[in-house]
Amino acid sequence: MKITKRGVLSVLVVLAFAGMVFFFAGRQAAETGKRQELHQRSLFAMDTFFSLKVYGAEAEEGLKTCETKIKELEHCFSVTDPESEIAAANRMGGGQVSYDTYTCVEKALEIGTKTDGALDITLYPVLRAWGFTTGEYHVPEESEITELMQYVNAAGVGTTVNDGQYELILEEGMELDLGAVAKGYTGDCLVEILKQYKVSGGLLDLGGNIQFFGAKPDQTAWKIAVKDPFDVSRQIGILELRGEGAVVTSGNYERYFVDDAGVRYGHILDPETGRPVESDLASVTIVGGTGTESDGLSTALFVKGKEGAIRFWRKYRNFGMILVGQDGCVLVTEDLAPDFELNGDPGKIPQMEILYGA
Ligand code: AMP
Ligand code: MG
Repeated sequence: MKITKRGVLSVLVVLAFAGMVFFFAGRQAAETGKRQELHQRSLFAMDTFFSLKVYGAEAEEGLKTCETKIKELEHCFSVTDPESEIAAANRMGGGQVSYDTYTCVEKALEIGTKTDGALDITLYPVLRAWGFTTGEYHVPEESEITELMQYVNAAGVGTTVNDGQYELILEEGMELDLGAVAKGYTGDCLVEILKQYKVSGGLLDLGGNIQFFGAKPDQTAWKIAVKDPFDVSRQIGILELRGEGAVVTSGNYERYFVDDAGVRYGHILDPETGRPVESDLASVTIVGGTGTESDGLSTALFVKGKEGAIRFWRKYRNFGMILVGQDGCVLVTEDLAPDFELNGDPGKIPQMEILYGA
């Protein structure tokens, strides 16, 4: 066989081309592998455990930025840290605050108005009297509650923005607690951060507040357990959700104390009485578009009770809801029902009903 110069050249060109194809295919496979890798972070912050699970090429960098943001937000919202922004605002009757504190207060006030005052961030003086923010629980005298209730007035919180400076103005004696929305707001911030990195999806657990976005590499739905409020080691069922949103549950089973007479007092207060809510609900789970709104609504609708929560859902219908009654009944809104599977071993949960609009 005669080997010509042209023949050799052609073979070399073909080999070089094949090499390039292999090189780029290999790089792409490595990229895809990176995109599909699960990156995790667990940390303790805001008095609870955070577990962040994220997929994506730049997930590690994203998670590092999330950790920094969580610490920054803790410094904004913690009422028990005297150095925090909210603690300083409470001492000084307001003052200059960061964009995050300002925005979180604004959103909480909005949800308060929307829920006819069921969510009220000015309850802090009363919450403190019960010991709910410090863990030094006791039942205050009725006179003390009455005295402190004069400072509870969400309509009296002033918010202004001047030349890019954010400011809060609080009436005399008024103090704020963002505990009912802080984790939801934090979740929204983390999702925004992660989207700026090459993150294809994530499931963030902020002490039971769940945020999900994007997709898993195998494209299966996110599986999110809903706790049994009568026995938190169990679940009443599993939600299978896709896309982006938040799942937040509130109930008086989360934090409570029992007095010498055996009476149980939960950490969610009724802004009308300044006393723990005596709800016919054991828990409220909200599935909504954002963490802040879902967190705010789960607390507020727990205050409203079963009928109030149903009325509210029928009016807005832009979120899903799972109510567990004190009688053990589970009510699931019609939009969520196809994505919710009740636990096969129902324990105290006897049945599930679907809640339809109007
Ligand atoms: P969550 O766990 O989101 O339902 O929020 C409950 C926390 O919010 C409590 O531990 C209190 O710090 C605070 N809180 C209790 N009752 C209310 C209320 N009616 N409105 C706003 N914040 C509340
Ligand atoms: Mg809440």
